[in-house]
Amino acid sequence: MKRKLLNNLFAAVIISCATSAFSETPHWDHGEQATWWSLQDTSQTPPLSFPFAECGVGQHQSPVDLASAKIDQTQVNPMEILYSIDTPDFFNTGHAVQVNTSTHYTGKLKIGEESFPLTQFHFHEPSEHVVGATTFPAELHYVHVKSDGRLAVLAVAINVGEENATFQTILDNTPPDSGGKKQNSGLQIDPAALLPKLEQPIKYYTLAGSLTTPPCSEGVQWYILPQVITISDAQLTQLKSFYTNNNRLPQNINGRSILTAQ
Ligand SMILES: [Zn+2]
Repeated sequence: MKRKLLNNLFAAVIISCATSAFSETPHWDHGEQATWWSLQDTSQTPPLSFPFAECGVGQHQSPVDLASAKIDQTQVNPMEILYSIDTPDFFNTGHAVQVNTSTHYTGKLKIGEESFPLTQFHFHEPSEHVVGATTFPAELHYVHVKSDGRLAVLAVAINVGEENATFQTILDNTPPDSGGKKQNSGLQIDPAALLPKLEQPIKYYTLAGSLTTPPCSEGVQWYILPQVITISDAQLTQLKSFYTNNNRLPQNINGRSILTAQ
């Protein structure tokens, strides 16, 4: 008995040593977003012990109040949204309801001659981008990552109205537990089914920003559609049953302009 206890203790020590030898992402949540920058990875020495410092010192942070920005009406690159049907994974990230595209997926966002493959899309409740006093009930982020590591996020505001059948499939297949992933379900999702009706050429607003969750990395180009989509009241309630208030508050615009052709 004593030996068993000793063995267990020994195992516990080995496990804790093994984990402390690697960098550990600090736990974070939306409720403490004002202090994300100060969260520490105690396995590292400064400055590496503050992996989320950019959330505090960054000057091009997202989201923003779109009404606080100077709007530059100019020539912008044409946008093409080339999403196709996929059999994705349904992922509860611990912070949001998310859909991860499959490895062979070819859907992409094209800006001018540049292509940004769609890697995942997820939802915030309520919206992260606001327009003056207006906050939307929710916001959809399509995240695209180019082979050189650059990110482009396409954002769509969500209002309450008609229900969206594709959104229902996503809600019904997202695991309830943090970190849960539903893989190989064979379920087909068309990411384009969550887009608003778009005119050609597609109108959009664009600005430089960051990830809206730790580590708040900058160098993210944001593309925001002026049209909203709708989900039903019941669907909004179901979304909230996963995560509510998983929105970062608007960050200082710091002189950034929003470019648009409108
Ligand atoms: Zn997001």
